[in-house]
Amino acid sequence: MNNKRIYLSLSQQSGFEQEYVQKALNSDWITSGGPNVDDFENELQQYFNENSFIAALNSGTSAIHLALILLGVKLNDEVICQSMTFAASANPILYQGAIPIFVDSEHETWNICPKSMEIAIKDRIKKGKKPKAIIAVHLYGMPYKVDEIHAIADRYEIPIIEDSAEALGSKYRGKKCGTFGTFGILSFNGNKIITTSSGGALITDSKELKEKAIFYATQSRDKAIHYQHSEIGYNYRMSNICAGIGLGQMKILNDNINKRIENHNFYKNIFHAIDEVELFDNLNDNFYSNYWLNTILIKSNNKDRNVENLRLILEKEDIESRPLWKPMHLQPLFEKYPYYGGGVAEKLFNNGLCLPSGSNLTKEDKNRIEKVIRTFFK
Ligand SMILES: *Cc1c(COP(=O)(O)O)cnc(C)c1O
Repeated sequence: MNNKRIYLSLSQQSGFEQEYVQKALNSDWITSGGPNVDDFENELQQYFNENSFIAALNSGTSAIHLALILLGVKLNDEVICQSMTFAASANPILYQGAIPIFVDSEHETWNICPKSMEIAIKDRIKKGKKPKAIIAVHLYGMPYKVDEIHAIADRYEIPIIEDSAEALGSKYRGKKCGTFGTFGILSFNGNKIITTSSGGALITDSKELKEKAIFYATQSRDKAIHYQHSEIGYNYRMSNICAGIGLGQMKILNDNINKRIENHNFYKNIFHAIDEVELFDNLNDNFYSNYWLNTILIKSNNKDRNVENLRLILEKEDIESRPLWKPMHLQPLFEKYPYYGGGVAEKLFNNGLCLPSGSNLTKEDKNRIEKVIRTFFK
């Protein structure tokens, strides 16, 4: 057979990307920052709301790093972080020499568990240090339990960094993800809902904090004619070429989200009749996931019908699938840090699988995927 490979997550192009990139090439703005970056920020600000200020950066990881810096996280400070996530959520804590405190997931949104989080906060305070920040993630586009998590964080006056890298377009109670935390972050990596090839953004409701973020992102240059620096700076600004791709991508952001939701409905149709599989789905009407990735849990006791065997059979047909994020508290890099919770994240990791969910999945791709899955569970 000569099938083309079906990938887990690829973005669509709008066809307008070249035009904006060409505009940058034709001008002298082949550098970081510039007119495309300003325009991209403005379009994102409009997409969110009039109270959102957005700094376009070179990655989502740098956005998280700058959020920690802006919150004053320093050497030996403690930062709570959802364990079930991509390492990019947690690595910037170590950049600051701070200590990650990992927290388990609950089984309804797979995100940070309010109960375990409060236990962690209380225990860290008892041990002498109040956590400086909380990094909560909308995993695979699914909003975390926003009301519960923010109520606890507010009670202890701990700011939240909302890792919305996978959740552009997701909503909780009708409000867009990325706007709940003291800072929100986005990623425009190649596999996300829209891409700038590589890129990210920091969201805040303060113009001053946006400007401060750009200050740090451009080597912390003091206001002087010569190059003068009083603080550590970073080279984190988005490039004008990348922002051109982003401007082209903005034209199909809503389209891409709709396609991902269509993919979800396609999987729903397959799995509703397969009892041993649970498709990751909105918990109730308060939750609106962009379904960046569709994920399943296999609950069967049948030892052959497990996630690894499904992955291998899909792979044989040139269809990419992947285990869920391996929780941070089980990673060699992070296992020495404190962890609060039980075995929810670990169980998800052992029984979960991410299925192809790109905005570019065709009818033919879906037929191929459906055939393999139906045969496997027959
Ligand atoms: C992709 C991702 C990031 C990091 O984004 P980059 O742009 O790749 O640096 C952070 N957190 C989560 C949960 C992600 O999926």
